[in-house]
Amino acid sequence: MTTWWDEVYTGDAPAPWDIGRPQRSLVRVAERGLLSGQVLDAGCGTGEHAILASRHGADSMGIDISPAAIAKAKAKAAERGVTARFEVADVLSLGELGITFDTVVDSGLFHVFDDKDRARYVTNLGLALRTGGVCYLMCFSDRQPGEFGPRRVRQDELRAAFSDGWTVESITADTFEINPIGEATDAQAWLAVLIRR
Ligand code: SAH
Repeated sequence: MTTWWDEVYTGDAPAPWDIGRPQRSLVRVAERGLLSGQVLDAGCGTGEHAILASRHGADSMGIDISPAAIAKAKAKAAERGVTARFEVADVLSLGELGITFDTVVDSGLFHVFDDKDRARYVTNLGLALRTGGVCYLMCFSDRQPGEFGPRRVRQDELRAAFSDGWTVESITADTFEINPIGEATDAQAWLAVLIRR
């Protein structure tokens, strides 16, 4: 089945978020040694953050609903000589994979879901993250003006989504680097650090 996401990854130009390198803010997280153990890159796209975690010594895995994205991620990892596993899977059924992770990276996934799927995502994330495990989540922020791109997320929405079974360690204003859209080369984001209780 070809999904909308698959079409994005088979188009002529890379998607705005598919910048060919990891997000600067998540590189900083990795450089602090925080992407460690078994790491899941949820909605990994072409795999930059799974590759980043691997390069920092993690046993990393990326999953995405788009087969085209996963094919690109596998090719990229092979080309760069990095060991990271990639699989086509739906994060809304993550609990069924039966794998538990120490760390999760979510770069631009949380903000794609409507309210119903958001709740389902958080439940499944909770099933896949061990107690004490940490999720580093970057989403579009309500501080981003204009209409382009995904839905904006407010801090209080993040706190509400992760109110049951999680500790919201911090939510920090940050930026997404994007492929240029007009004159814009970045977009306002929140970087949330969420601990599974
Ligand atoms: N993390 C990547 C991609 C962000 S775009 C990056 O930083 O570049 C959001 C990604 O989530 C897309 O690759 C899309 O295919 C994927 N996605 C959307 N819904 C999904 C779902 N239900 N399960 C798994 N992946 C999903």
